Amino acid sequence: MNQPDASLRGVFAQLSALGYGEVAFRHDQDSGLRAIVAIHDRRLGPALGGTRFIAYPNEHAALTDVLRLARAMTAKAALAGLAHGGGKAVIIRPAGDFDRPRLMRAFGRFVDELGGRYITTEDSGTTIADMGVIRSQTRHVTGFELASGGSGDPSPFTGLGVRRGIEATVKHALGRDELAGVRVAVQGVGNVGYYLCKELHALGARLTVADVRAEACTRVADELGASVVDVADIHRSECDVYAPCALGGAINDATIGELRCRIVAGGANNQLDHDALGEQLRTRGVLYAPDYAINAGGLINVAQEVAGYDAQKSRANTLRIYDTILEICQRADSSHTPTNRVADAMVAEILGKAKVPA
Ligand code: NAD
Repeated sequence: MNQPDASLRGVFAQLSALGYGEVAFRHDQDSGLRAIVAIHDRRLGPALGGTRFIAYPNEHAALTDVLRLARAMTAKAALAGLAHGGGKAVIIRPAGDFDRPRLMRAFGRFVDELGGRYITTEDSGTTIADMGVIRSQTRHVTGFELASGGSGDPSPFTGLGVRRGIEATVKHALGRDELAGVRVAVQGVGNVGYYLCKELHALGARLTVADVRAEACTRVADELGASVVDVADIHRSECDVYAPCALGGAINDATIGELRCRIVAGGANNQLDHDALGEQLRTRGVLYAPDYAINAGGLINVAQEVAGYDAQKSRANTLRIYDTILEICQRADSSHTPTNRVADAMVAEILGKAKVPA
């Protein structure tokens, strides 16, 4: 018999340390599907989280990614007050040509066999159209077209929630109730960054933006009067709020000393390259809005779809991100603790009171 893959050595110890409930693998010979679903926690309800469809250098990288992402979804759903646990899926993108609908149908059958313990939605590399295909095989999917009763694009809700979070941090750190004249530097004006800029512009904020795609910058400059700076300079722009909305790790050992802002509050996931940077921001007098607390608007919107989609309810729930961020800031001040640690403690409190699923 063949020896097991060495890259899986220690995988149960890794799962146990991270508190995982269930990890499922699927290889489908017919379509070429290679997928992993990680269900991190179901104490608050069925695990909800997107499907990432990207190329990975190897299976272990895909496993590491899905575990990390699923865990973050538990925290995001808990702080957003949702009746959902955290889960995530990855589909390893095939190297050559492939039949996308066939692959998505095979993935839909995989999700279906998990019996509703995991509900999928969009993430990097998957589209609203993919969710429609997956839906032909399972009802445990959200984020499909508005016309079919889905919730459509989550990004406007994520942008709305980040704007509310910024309002809370501005209130807490600057004592201001309004965003008029507040200077915000936005790193990355793709889906979330663009909608965030629209929200901020409507309230009179002054925008500086950077993106590796020149056309994305041109759009916000033309439509919203934003100033454009080089991607290498955006984090050192003099501003009130620095809003990372591109990739993870915007705050790292190299950038932290160059920040010229009072607040870091943006839509990107995993903004701190490592946890200790939360304490370093605090000692430097920079208020940080924990990423999974401030960027939950899109998740709130797809979660609404499970109950029967209602955009007004999604909006009302997303607006409450203001209260969550303000509470984190206040607890952080009174306990002299960095905001990322406070958010983690609040998640642990919420999960500690939840029932263990049958
Ligand atoms: P996106 O790909 O539409 O936008 C990201 C933008 O960042 C792109 O325009 C890209 O060109 C730009 N970019 C990449 N590298 C850059 C760099 N070094 N400097 C400046 N710009 C750079 O993705 P998105 O959906 O807007 O997501 C952005 C972030 O928000 C991601 O971290 C994502 O995980 C997170 N997020 C998104 C949602 C959502 O609803 N889409 C929800 C929660 C969190």
